[in-house]
Amino acid sequence: MMVIMRRDATEEQIQRVLETVRRLGFTPHLSRGHEHVVIGVIGEARRAEPAAFLHLPGVARVVPISRPYKLSSREFHPADTRVQVGPVTFGGPDIVIIAGPCSVESRSQMLETAHAVKEAGADMLRGGAFKPRTSPYSFQGLGEEGLRYLAEAREATGLPVVTEVMSPEQVDLVSEYADMLQIGARNMQNYPLLRAVGKRQKPVLLKRGMSATIQEFLLAAEYILMSGNKDVVLCERGIRTFETSTRNTTDINAIPVLKAATHLPVILDPSHSTGHWAYVAPIARAAIAAGADGLIIEVHPRPEEALSDGAQSLKPERFAQLVREVRAIAEMVRQEMHAVRPPVSPGAD
Ligand code: PEP
Ligand code: MN
Repeated sequence: MMVIMRRDATEEQIQRVLETVRRLGFTPHLSRGHEHVVIGVIGEARRAEPAAFLHLPGVARVVPISRPYKLSSREFHPADTRVQVGPVTFGGPDIVIIAGPCSVESRSQMLETAHAVKEAGADMLRGGAFKPRTSPYSFQGLGEEGLRYLAEAREATGLPVVTEVMSPEQVDLVSEYADMLQIGARNMQNYPLLRAVGKRQKPVLLKRGMSATIQEFLLAAEYILMSGNKDVVLCERGIRTFETSTRNTTDINAIPVLKAATHLPVILDPSHSTGHWAYVAPIARAAIAAGADGLIIEVHPRPEEALSDGAQSLKPERFAQLVREVRAIAEMVRQEMHAVRPPVSPGAD
């Protein structure tokens, strides 16, 4: 449930509610909105009694949170959350474009790609140093050496870096180099990993599992939020369907559904959702028109030589064209969209 404080509630009254929540064995989550302070009462199976809070001074009302995910729901936090990664803001008026190779392959490949995507107008750099490959015989990534090349590319271009972390044991190491931690689709339900990144003050890019429902996706985000890290960006990356003509099926529906259900920023990965470079730009355009807060795109200077995901990687010139197109679409649709978005979720799935 949520305890909504009166507009004129004093700090003392807020503190008293927080203490009461803790005394009853729940965890309070404080959210200071423009108009009201809202205190989420989060607990495991035990039920909280609204009456315990209704009579406390400064309390306006007590309302249940009907969704199984609480902290990520728009009910709990109606305003859009903005996630800051260095100079880049997710969930604000501007879209964020992340680009770079699927895998960090060498120092020169990383630096060349970083300069190219910066030139083309990217806001952030991607590149996998630890790669979750379906086959154990495929290239597994350069590990820490790859992280060093990513950090060097950041120094050279000023672009913040996002890279994947695959296990709780890797979180310390990857956090030393990266500005944002990526949880890959295959790890979306790796609960110890979600809790481990939740304990860090590093923004997280959480990708949707390829067979996960939107509710499961939001519950995965909930693990990170409830562990203390509020900086979560969601990434739709395509789901498994019966269709075989593309690598995955872009769940374009997920974008407006997520934007209604949650306050967290939502981006799309059209590289993995389509699996073919020719489909990346059209689906990227669709995502921005549908309300996505950004994109993550695989770019390689010579896709035919890529050690992973060459078929879906764009050459820098094509990427530059895509950036121009999606920024033009964002310009046209974003302001208007913000004005019409329903404040509360009509239903998550
Ligand atoms: C990636 O971003 O290169 C990746 C492995 O993505 P996903 O986890 O979505 O498959
Ligand atoms: Mn990839």
